Amino acid sequence: MTSYQIFQIHLMLTAGTFFMLLSLLLIINKNLYDRRKPAIIGMEFSAAALLFIDSFGLIFDGQKGIVARYCVWINSFLAFIFILVASLSYVSYVNSKMFENYNTKKIPRRVYMCKSILLIGIIMVCIFGVSGHYFYVDDNNNYCRGPLFLLSYMMPILGIMILITVIIQYRKNVSTLSFVAFITYALLPQAAGVLQVVFLGEYFLDLSFGIGACFLYGVYIVEQNKATIANVSIDVKTGLYNCNGFVDRIIELSKTHDMTDYDIYYLELIRFSNINRKYGNEVSDEIIRSFVNSLRHYLSTDEVLGRLGGNYFVAYVNKTKREEFLNLMGEGIEVEFEVNERTEKVVIASAVGGYSIEEQTTRIIQLIDLASMALNLAKHTYKVNALFMTPEIKKELYDIQNMEQRIAEGLEKHEFIAYYQPKVNSKELRLYGAEALVRWERDGKIIPPGAFIPIMEKNEMICKLDFYMLNRVCQDMLEWIEKGYAIPRVSINFSRKNLGNKNLAKDIFDVIRKYNLAPGKIEIEITETLDEYPIGVLKEFVEALHRYGIRVAVDDFGVGSSSMNLLREVSFDVLKIDKTFVDNSTEKEVKILKHIVDIAKDTGAHVIAEGVERREQCDVLSELGCEEIQGYVFDKPMNREMFEERLRTNNYQ
Ligand code: C2E
Ligand code: CA
Ligand code: CA
Repeated sequence: MTSYQIFQIHLMLTAGTFFMLLSLLLIINKNLYDRRKPAIIGMEFSAAALLFIDSFGLIFDGQKGIVARYCVWINSFLAFIFILVASLSYVSYVNSKMFENYNTKKIPRRVYMCKSILLIGIIMVCIFGVSGHYFYVDDNNNYCRGPLFLLSYMMPILGIMILITVIIQYRKNVSTLSFVAFITYALLPQAAGVLQVVFLGEYFLDLSFGIGACFLYGVYIVEQNKATIANVSIDVKTGLYNCNGFVDRIIELSKTHDMTDYDIYYLELIRFSNINRKYGNEVSDEIIRSFVNSLRHYLSTDEVLGRLGGNYFVAYVNKTKREEFLNLMGEGIEVEFEVNERTEKVVIASAVGGYSIEEQTTRIIQLIDLASMALNLAKHTYKVNALFMTPEIKKELYDIQNMEQRIAEGLEKHEFIAYYQPKVNSKELRLYGAEALVRWERDGKIIPPGAFIPIMEKNEMICKLDFYMLNRVCQDMLEWIEKGYAIPRVSINFSRKNLGNKNLAKDIFDVIRKYNLAPGKIEIEITETLDEYPIGVLKEFVEALHRYGIRVAVDDFGVGSSSMNLLREVSFDVLKIDKTFVDNSTEKEVKILKHIVDIAKDTGAHVIAEGVERREQCDVLSELGCEEIQGYVFDKPMNREMFEERLRTNNYQ
């Protein structure tokens, strides 16, 4: 054996050991579990096997004895087989990498063809290899090529050549890196094979398989890492960007596009909880995905859609589309979905907060915050479905923050006072009760509740105010009693936010008792909307108040959507018909009004109409049987001293 051959054997054994270890490492590494793993292992292992086989071939080639003869024969046989196994693994790898995310129907026929050719190749090795047509071992134990030797080369070359056409045609399915790796792996052994045919006795093929497999392995690791990173920026359910991804994408886009050409939107799907309740989580997810797909189609490549979680989304949309986008979101997108093998449709509309980007910035989160504030304002303050954040609104928000601070101070300093608006019996023209309405006396000015109650309702400060008012009213009433007036019943507004307090009725009763007042002199007004708390909570509260002898009125009756349901479940003492019913008395409205009055009377409740401004309205109401009136027609809300004056005269003639 020449020293060059010895060197070659050493080289092949070392490389073979290396590839063998690498494939073992892959087998035991559980973290790398993936459909592509067996294919990579197949390639590495085949390369290692080929290198070992060829080095043994070199050692035993031409040696004397039966052992050498069999070794050369077995090695050669296995060499043919492993070339085909390496190629087969490679085809599987390419297949799963290029088409795994696709329907199996989309895998091109040529891929199956490659696999078939390689399998046929293995069968042919078994037949022609054994029969000596591919190779044989001569009397001197030398390896010799048989007459069909070139045919054995044709099989893997043909398979891989066909595969190359698939790789080139579908190169868009994979990254450039993968594409280059595929082509390299396919071409390296072909080139090496040609060299080997020309330079008989040199072993390039196995090394080229090994090097190619290592290269693919490297790319595989790189792409796995990329996928892990992508998970951090992608929302799993919809495949949209999550908050991180959204921010990164905008920053990336801002390098080539001017950010000030875009608006940022914060979207909340409206009434999605209903859909969730009706169809369940799985179908709702399906609906969200369809919605997202439609919206994605609507957006261009320079625009971005992201999901923050639940039914909250963010969008980055060109300013030229502003009106169109707001309309689309407001009117909603129709979504079709399958439920119980039926196709149903829902329209998904969104509440939208928008912000017009005014300067190039990397602080995208701040922009999202501004859009989110606009959405909040839209929902809670302006009661609209879409709002664009303007500099004026930004200032207003700033004012609100200031306001919260000042309200808290005002409560401490007892700047809030009770105004009283008389309730009058329109037939007898006598005052029979009053509603206490809060006013804020600040720097000599009287601020109406509209300016601060919405702010207080946001942060539960309202509960503190309501009890403060109850105390103040009780104090005033006590004073009137001491002055010798016959005191009327006074109603006090309690925000629904109080319903979170389980001891609410008792807490109210305790205040009344503290002032030694008869509980029957106090009435609690509560609105009918059932947004936050279920009807059961309200029912319990009303029943508890009744046990203490305190009366309850439904405020703004008829405005909410659940008025009738409410009446069935809860027995109120008074229904306050909302101003809107009284305002424009068309024939139809008068009819509705009549029914409301009748229903109230049938359930044993009193009816009072509020917001009555004109005499004619009084007449209509009294004809319908509603004689209790609260409104400017008799009096506006007034301070304690003026109300005392009314108590003294008590005359509306
Ligand atoms: P509300 O309980 O529906 O009170 C009736 C509102 O209608 C009062 O407005 C009253 O001044 C006004 N009003 C009465 N008659 C007429 C009329 O003939 N024409 C017109 N245009 N308006 C009339 P106000 O005092 O500004 O109170 C607004 C709302 O603030 C109240 O609506 C109530 O929801 C809330 N509020 C007032 N005081 C309190 C309170 O102490 N606690 C709570 N939680 N809410 C309060
Ligand atoms: Ca009220
Ligand atoms: Ca009212």
